[in-house]
Amino acid sequence: MRRFFVAGNWKMNLLARSAVELAGALARAVPAAFPNVQVAVCPPFPYLPAVAGAVSGSGVELGAQNAWHEMPGAYTGEVAVEMLLDVGCRWVILGHSERRLILGEADELISRKTRAAVAAGLEVILCVGETLSQRQAGQTEQVLDFQMQGSLAGIDYRAIGRIVIAYEPVWAIGTGVTATTEQAQSAHSHLRKWLATRYNPRIAAETRILYGGSVKPQNARSLLEQPDVDGALVGGASLKIDDFLPIIRAAEGIRKS
Ligand code: PEP
Repeated sequence: MRRFFVAGNWKMNLLARSAVELAGALARAVPAAFPNVQVAVCPPFPYLPAVAGAVSGSGVELGAQNAWHEMPGAYTGEVAVEMLLDVGCRWVILGHSERRLILGEADELISRKTRAAVAAGLEVILCVGETLSQRQAGQTEQVLDFQMQGSLAGIDYRAIGRIVIAYEPVWAIGTGVTATTEQAQSAHSHLRKWLATRYNPRIAAETRILYGGSVKPQNARSLLEQPDVDGALVGGASLKIDDFLPIIRAAEGIRKS
């Protein structure tokens, strides 16, 4: 059975004090042995060490929002995967649509980053998702296939075990518009079939696929109840404890056979 995973993507938000306060409040609510739901937060780079301290000993794991794929060296402004491990990260988000669309990251670069992260011992939240115009043109599945193929190039049967997929329709990110439960389930089911074809049915059954895109306390339960939705990547609602905790609690209350 796949364990629920709820991860907060803080994006470029908060300052040191508010980051530590939020992480501390979350750590108090999520004890070390939290059975049904795995929980992580992904703060901006400068706050990783402080947040690592605030969540230490709790059930809250630490992730980064990006990484560079080369060994430490002359890459001004970049952060190596070894550095993320060094400050206590277990996770890194790669392929987020904001990096794809605003910063021009292509699947080829995302696959290099994914391979480097996994090889170093990090686990990856790999984001894929279509834009509104691609959905309206009926290209959703084609786009997902293309992104999966490109981003997972060179990822073998062992490495895929360290990767969680996040289906994040771009039109639902930060817009307040959420995919319907049917749209989410349909995309997740398609992604699982893709994994079965590219890898095998066992890997498809074991790989977790998160939904991301305006997840809130009000819609979390119905999304998480979908058979192929194994958790949530949460942006805006992860910045307030009173919004993030109910999403975690919603996952905690769901039992899937
Ligand atoms: C995200 O950035 O990954 C995200 C899902 O954002 P939001 O929840 O704010 O739509």
